[in-house]
Amino acid sequence: MDVNEFSKIISEIKKLSLKQLTKIKEEISNVETEENPLLNLKEPKICPHCNSKEIVSYGFRNEAQRYKCKSCGKTYNILTNSPLAKLRLKKKWLKYCECLKSGYSIRKTAEICGINKNTALKWRHRFLENNKVNKVQKLTGLVEADDCFFFKSEKGNKKLNRLPRKRGARNTSNENSIDKHTLFVNIDGIGSVYDILRDKLQDIDIKEIYSLMETNSAYCVKNFKNYRDILQRTEIKNNLVNPEKARYLKNKNKYTNEAWSYCLSIQKWMLRFNGVASKYLENYLAWFRTLNELGLNINANKLLERAIYK
Ligand SMILES: [Zn+2]
Repeated sequence: MDVNEFSKIISEIKKLSLKQLTKIKEEISNVETEENPLLNLKEPKICPHCNSKEIVSYGFRNEAQRYKCKSCGKTYNILTNSPLAKLRLKKKWLKYCECLKSGYSIRKTAEICGINKNTALKWRHRFLENNKVNKVQKLTGLVEADDCFFFKSEKGNKKLNRLPRKRGARNTSNENSIDKHTLFVNIDGIGSVYDILRDKLQDIDIKEIYSLMETNSAYCVKNFKNYRDILQRTEIKNNLVNPEKARYLKNKNKYTNEAWSYCLSIQKWMLRFNGVASKYLENYLAWFRTLNELGLNINANKLLERAIYK
């Protein structure tokens, strides 16, 4: 469209009623989400096969710019080696990311995006794959830890390895029940989350957390009694504080109970899915972690970038 025509449209907008404006906004949001989202992403500067920088554009195929590497002779596009490689219907991806942002169920997502439920489910695992492996590399200040539990579930498996649980039956066993997974949540002084899902926490897990902590960090475990043995065995005791003492830490890293808040939030958020199969639980944890990390800055484009780039 030429400049004059465009200016005319802009001046006409001022004459619209509120209702008409709302309608326009709605139309615009539809137009944007049907755009090929790959066109707005940064181009791959090196060959994913051999890391050479000697690359040239090599046509456009399957809705993506192709490149050819002069060193190894192979072709590739922005999605090569990413979890989204070879997925179709790219123009629906941003809408799909909007649904991820909103935490919608498979059924609702499929409806909104106009895709079938199997595709919506397959996409969910692919879109969350990078988030699952991307974890924080450093924990700063006072690191608070707390835990919560999720029932094990064989949802979706054709063959059950246990007797079926009666609908509505309460789990009456104690916290160490073999029917539950423990989510061990660690949050540092600037809100970075490092979570670990285990049947039972291992020494190596605590050592891992300890290795991420900066030297002046302190570690504070809410349910200290449950983890006393493992914490002392792993020599973390030098930096360990209990929640009461943490309130008076000299370095002003006050205990905030953030890990507990996180546990409550994720458990509440998970309710919408009516039970998650154990084999997919890590995906959901990564999903929530990403939503939490991006916070108010979250948008569909950011989620798409996360899905493509490591
Ligand atoms: Zn190459």
